[in-house]
Amino acid sequence: MTERVYQQNSYNYETEAKIVKIDNNRVILDRTIFYPTSGGQSADTGNIDNYRVIDVKNEDNEIVHIIDRPFKLPENNEELGKVHLKIDWEHRYDNMQQHTGQHLLSAVLLKLLHAETVSSHLGTNYNTVDVSVPMELNDEAINKIELYANSLIYNRIPVKSYFPSSNELNSLILRRKPKVKENIRVVEIEGTDITPCGGTHLSNTVEITILKIIKAEKYKGMYRIYFLCGRKASLHYLENYRTLVQTADFLSVPLKEVPLRTKNLMDKSIDQSKLINSLKGKLAEFKIDTILKNMLKINTFYFLYDVNNIESNNDETLFLEQKDILKHLKKLPAKSILLFLEINRKKLPAKMTLSIKTFPSNSNQKISALYILDNIISKYNGKGGGSKKYARGIITIKNDTPSPEMILKTIENILRKQ
Ligand SMILES: [Zn+2]
Repeated sequence: MTERVYQQNSYNYETEAKIVKIDNNRVILDRTIFYPTSGGQSADTGNIDNYRVIDVKNEDNEIVHIIDRPFKLPENNEELGKVHLKIDWEHRYDNMQQHTGQHLLSAVLLKLLHAETVSSHLGTNYNTVDVSVPMELNDEAINKIELYANSLIYNRIPVKSYFPSSNELNSLILRRKPKVKENIRVVEIEGTDITPCGGTHLSNTVEITILKIIKAEKYKGMYRIYFLCGRKASLHYLENYRTLVQTADFLSVPLKEVPLRTKNLMDKSIDQSKLINSLKGKLAEFKIDTILKNMLKINTFYFLYDVNNIESNNDETLFLEQKDILKHLKKLPAKSILLFLEINRKKLPAKMTLSIKTFPSNSNQKISALYILDNIISKYNGKGGGSKKYARGIITIKNDTPSPEMILKTIENILRKQ
């Protein structure tokens, strides 16, 4: 069985050990400071001599170090089999901060809300605890938990870990049942929490520095609480503070006025949208009057058109879209054909966009939207497509040809020949 040095002293980041077994890139030592992946905590990384440790596993009570290449023993080495171990301290210390913070958060959840931690996970970007809470977890409860957990951090409470005898174990009130039957190790935050755990922890709550609850959401009949501790929590605060400062600058208000000013702007924006929609409706009705006034009756068909010239980005014709006109268009006579013709001279070469719609949407009628479009684009070398009810095409304008009048005349001729 590998001696787990990290359980005796989690601050030991460098030591010597002897090789017990080598199998290609798998190394087993007599003792190790490398914590293996378990209990929702990631494995330590680091070095065994100049080999990089990329993973650490717990297999049948042995700690297996997975290194980046097959291990070779140096020849003529007096201390054959002796290796130097060094873990990545920043990663380990971060794990210790997050992990001890998780114990503290679970203890506070139990004390204040009688909420039991069902599972926990320490992730790269955030940590989570899944808790069964016998109540609705609102913002007020979250604030209370966070404030209390942080007060326990400032109170500098010692954290210790030990292997109690079975008698001692029976006298301890554990937060949860042990997952193993023998060699049970407990971690105690004095006067606050006692729980079985084989992981790496800080020796005092003050080293957690900050505990920040990011959010809580309903999850499988429980609550999943996202949180960060230590350096990660500080970085999270800094990033969000920067965002808040930028927003306050945009709004030209002090930080604390950002929520109210944002709400006022949102309310104003909703009012303006309502006003714009009402104006669009009135403008569409005005435009429809003109369209109906210019309606042509050709044989059994009714031909309606709307011609728009777009000259600049601020052109008011862009304000009203075709869908606004269609939305306010009342019932048209049978066999109506509506053409939206848009001439865009903002970019050269100038282009003409044709949208043709037939009313009512009778798929059997011979004069379909696509039939009319095909006739025009083949004549003026355009491109486009669509269905019998709706077709859309684009024609490049060369030396003012074709003109809008030419397009209207072409359609009139098609309808006249029927
Ligand atoms: Zn633990």
